[in-house]
Amino acid sequence: MYTINRERFLRLMDEQAQFGATDAGGVSRPALSPEDMQIRNWFQQQITANGLKYAIDGAGNQSAILESSNLNAKTLLLGSHFDSVPNGGRFDGALGLIAAFEVLLSIKDAGIALPFHLEVINLTDEEGTLMGITGSRAIVGLLSREELLNPRGERERLTEGMSRAGLSDESMLSAKRDPALLLGYLEVHIEQGTRLEEAKFNIGVVTSIVGIRSYWMTFKGEAAHAGTKPMDKRRDAFWGASAFALWAKDRIMADFHPGVVNFGRIHLEPGAFNIVPAEVKLAVEFRHGEITQLDAMETAILEQAHLAAQEYGLQLEAETGDSLLPAPMADSFVTAIETASEKLGLSHTRLLSFAGHDAQSFAHVTNSAMFFVPSVNGISHNPLEYTKPDDCVNAANVMLQAVLEIAGITT
Ligand SMILES: [Zn+2]
Repeated sequence: MYTINRERFLRLMDEQAQFGATDAGGVSRPALSPEDMQIRNWFQQQITANGLKYAIDGAGNQSAILESSNLNAKTLLLGSHFDSVPNGGRFDGALGLIAAFEVLLSIKDAGIALPFHLEVINLTDEEGTLMGITGSRAIVGLLSREELLNPRGERERLTEGMSRAGLSDESMLSAKRDPALLLGYLEVHIEQGTRLEEAKFNIGVVTSIVGIRSYWMTFKGEAAHAGTKPMDKRRDAFWGASAFALWAKDRIMADFHPGVVNFGRIHLEPGAFNIVPAEVKLAVEFRHGEITQLDAMETAILEQAHLAAQEYGLQLEAETGDSLLPAPMADSFVTAIETASEKLGLSHTRLLSFAGHDAQSFAHVTNSAMFFVPSVNGISHNPLEYTKPDDCVNAANVMLQAVLEIAGITT
């Protein structure tokens, strides 16, 4: 049975963690920041030094390509991301890319002839410090000019990053590829949760990446003197917003398991110790793997918001924000990952991904799949993020076997 080169792989894992390394032991490599540019240069060097073809597209996605002798073959992408959240961990994204790169090197070393081109791809701005799953959306044509002009990470930061990397709005939009040339996309990632660790599974095979919907909910009351206005006469916007948050949380937990809801941002006006809040704007986001459940969650959450506004004498404005459709993974690839795990004697289970990943972009146009390896204590987006060396090696070996399964090479 073919296996990856453990020593080389773990050495590359250590090397990548030097770029943007933080004192706390993690990495800080926001997309297209100077630290991200450093690891990009390093990756390019690794690709060319190993005699592989290097390519970069208009969205800054960097690729290592092992071409099939059949030049008309389709391309199987193995991807993830080197960008991190500010002050993040050294495994999120990087494990997937280094594992994929090691798979490509191992296949090249072994002289295995694949019936497809194999391309390892570092996808730009997965984490969303600029826009979120940006590189993959550029490839599948889900990036718009409007979003480039008004990115969630602010336009100035985006233009700074693009100029650092020699990119432009035009180039970003030109990165779209013909889906007919793609065979599919595969990714391995740390779980960022505790389901595998608690149930003692080696591998978690993702069946769907959850859909996400969001709202800005604005509760409008009346500003008043925080001392002299009698409590029973107040129209305090914060009372309504906080009642809504707790009611909505209870309802989602009771009726929509395993769905989740979050209230991640709040603006309070006028915003002083001594003024009753006149207006509260609350960021609401909710996720589920099935679209019918997302619809029902949306209805329930809006219902709770209206009830809370009514109860506290407030007006409500509900403005829809970003949304993402649930992304089911390709059955044939899911099976390939399960077969690969079994051949390696690794235990596996199926699960939903509650975090967004580039695999969801590709699911719109081609076969897409991903799997997880355990994260110690589920810690992620944190310098303490850790995945044991054996689990990292499992990630790369399952990826290698899955590629061979897809290629129809049984060993
Ligand atoms: Zn990630």
